[in-house]
Amino acid sequence: MTAHLRIDLDAIAANWRTLADLHGADTAAVVKANAYGLGAERVAQRLYDAGARHFFVAHPEEGVKIRALLPGAMIAILNGFLPQKAELYGNDLVPVLGSLRDIQNFTSYAATRGAKPEALLHIDTGMNRLGLDPTDLAELAANPTLLDPITIRYVMTHLVDAEQQDDPGNQVQLARFERACARLPPYRRSIANSSGIFLGPAFRADLARPGAALYGINPTPGRPNPMRPTLRLTAEILQLRTVEPGERVGYNGIWTATRRTQVATVAAGYADGYHRALSNRAHAAFDGRRVPLIGRVSMDLITFDTTGHDITQGDMLELIGPAVPPDEVAGWAGTNGYEILTSLGARLARTYGPL
Ligand SMILES: *Cc1c(COP(=O)(O)O)cnc(C)c1O
Repeated sequence: MTAHLRIDLDAIAANWRTLADLHGADTAAVVKANAYGLGAERVAQRLYDAGARHFFVAHPEEGVKIRALLPGAMIAILNGFLPQKAELYGNDLVPVLGSLRDIQNFTSYAATRGAKPEALLHIDTGMNRLGLDPTDLAELAANPTLLDPITIRYVMTHLVDAEQQDDPGNQVQLARFERACARLPPYRRSIANSSGIFLGPAFRADLARPGAALYGINPTPGRPNPMRPTLRLTAEILQLRTVEPGERVGYNGIWTATRRTQVATVAAGYADGYHRALSNRAHAAFDGRRVPLIGRVSMDLITFDTTGHDITQGDMLELIGPAVPPDEVAGWAGTNGYEILTSLGARLARTYGPL
């Protein structure tokens, strides 16, 4: 096995428990994008076993995939109700309605069904992507019977800047949300994503919606990470060679040896989700020590300077994991940990167990 992704489901479950305890009320699991690349079915099943009964995905297809594994659990579809895929919602999927049009489409659909199907209501308080805007909200407040054909399980909003503890925008969103809720029947509420849970009691409501923190991404950037690492990406050294001073390594020769250098060529690349932006910037770990990446990341290969390490062909380097956290890799790549995880390539061999 040349490149391998190890995923610790028990660590993900422990992270869910940590977040649920801190939240002190119902806590969902966001498992969109294949559980941030780690495997939606395995992750959802493990969190269900740990007690989670609320799950969020982006697309109805993602919901259908996990429906049978989670008896009785709510599976909410963040992207709303898509009429052209109406039949998928018949699998007990709960759309998050984010516009009047969404509400109208879903109530029309409800008319074709016997019972009052469930939905969540999304209020926009500053993200300006999805969610009822002030005009929609005024119309809904003036016509409360619009919601009669359906059952609203939660009313929710989504924070723009939850990971910035001191951003005044968080309080602004909270105030807007409270004003909006005051115009609606007394539904249960959902506010916090991962970082929102750490913003204090005002942001904890009836249901939290953490995603990233479940998978070990730091919800409190700039402070120690309270979450457990959940994955390790390793790749095998295919060749070791020694290059002389003045020799260049890899495409475009963007790295030049200034001393005799042992170069380890490793079997992973940007096709595995190891970003090309990491060229000449990242580090891997071997035996508890860091080794610098040299030259370009190519599609299937990366090169490291392993000079002075007792290392042999066939050894594995840790590219992302407990010793090289996804948040740090993201910093080198100029992105966030979310993108590092969701990039993890489909061709990586994924196995589940302790790291
Ligand atoms: C993705 C998403 C979440 C989870 O956010 P994290 O930052 O990963 O915890 C919660 N709510 C909504 C609406 C989302 O789109």
